[in-house]
Amino acid sequence: MVAFRGGVTRRPVTVGGAPYREVVTIQAPAVWRLPAVGEWERLTRLPADLLQALLADPETVARYNAKVYQRGAGQCWPWVGALGSAGHGRLRCGTRALEPERPASRVIASHVFGWQLSRGILAADPVTGRLPLICHRCDEPSCHNPAHWVCGTAADNWADYVARRHAPGSPLTDTRGPRGRAVAIRSVILAALAEGAGAGEVEAAIEAAGAAGIPGAQGALF
Ligand SMILES: [Zn+2]
Repeated sequence: MVAFRGGVTRRPVTVGGAPYREVVTIQAPAVWRLPAVGEWERLTRLPADLLQALLADPETVARYNAKVYQRGAGQCWPWVGALGSAGHGRLRCGTRALEPERPASRVIASHVFGWQLSRGILAADPVTGRLPLICHRCDEPSCHNPAHWVCGTAADNWADYVARRHAPGSPLTDTRGPRGRAVAIRSVILAALAEGAGAGEVEAAIEAAGAAGIPGAQGALF
């Protein structure tokens, strides 16, 4: 059973034979932003040689793949590892084994690593020196389905947010904010898998956890 603190008790959903009971805290809608520029740079900018080494490191790639809950080709693939304040995944990579003089490990933005794993190295803007953003067409920042990613600028990302933030049923309307939504989805996946739930039960749990924070979605789901 998975429970969240405070708020309203929702109708139970069965996960792996046990009732799934979720308590949702109602909050003011949170703006879906990236972390501060400095923090984001640390999470996304790696020395070129280290990035190449990590992308070619079987242990790092296996760790990345183990944190992605893969579903159908058109579905979102939630990150089930550590999550940042904006709902993006965090991947801890061991770096000392690759270069002995480096720190033992480093935390990076998982979807930026995943983009480069699936599509190739990102090139920095020659004028600003910044990497392009990896935007989520599905508006689920914890999603790691490469088909849902598109390269863009901060302006593109903001324009998408403004255009879709009030769309009925959009993840952007989730009252828990991006991190709360991502944590809720991650929690039910991990709980369901720990209970040996079948794929159908995991799907139902993901749908229920996603709908729990969307105004009006509960009535449509149940
Ligand atoms: Zn997605």
